[in-house]
Amino acid sequence: MLVDLTLDMSETLPVFPGSPPMHMIPWSTIRGEGYNSEMLFLSSHLGTHMDAPYHFVQDGLRIHQIPLDVLMGRATLLNIQKKANEYIQRDDIVRWQRDNHKIPHNSPVIFYTGWQAHINHDYYFTENPGLSRDAADYLASISVPLVGTDLPSIDAGRDSAFPAHHILARKGTVNVENLANLDKIQYIEFNYIILPLKIRNATGSPVRAMAILE
Ligand SMILES: [Zn+2]
Repeated sequence: MLVDLTLDMSETLPVFPGSPPMHMIPWSTIRGEGYNSEMLFLSSHLGTHMDAPYHFVQDGLRIHQIPLDVLMGRATLLNIQKKANEYIQRDDIVRWQRDNHKIPHNSPVIFYTGWQAHINHDYYFTENPGLSRDAADYLASISVPLVGTDLPSIDAGRDSAFPAHHILARKGTVNVENLANLDKIQYIEFNYIILPLKIRNATGSPVRAMAILE
């Protein structure tokens, strides 16, 4: 079974404060030019999207350079429910592994926090939970190549210095934010495909993300 992990991209999709909403500009019509088409104006970090390390590290990999073997693989899904302004702590990850399954070294992890239920509220982007500094250090220590989450950012809304982004980008880790439908995955490991557009030199890209469940 395939599960779509992607939010719909639309003009009404909530966006990070200070970022413009998406605009879809009609360009041609079947009646006029003989074909329908549109122009898009959007942030490269709109909706369900991937951050390349270059988002926070000047000489980090850019989105077109992300190796294909990171975009497809087997991830560990950590269901760690969090509320406004809470942190996913190192201890949460250690405890989850003790109760469930050891995260292999060099292997992708995805956090399901439940926070996306608040996406239509103003506080979704400002009070969101996020990785604590020690949680990000821990993920870096086990060389996680990709960190996915249903959160709008891997950093908590109140962490305006983006410590988790800095720690993981320095390690070359790729982030995927605003993943949808993680509640539909009833496994602790699953196969995924998460594909950014190959935009040369960009810091990120919207993605189409899916889970492939046995
Ligand atoms: Zn981003």
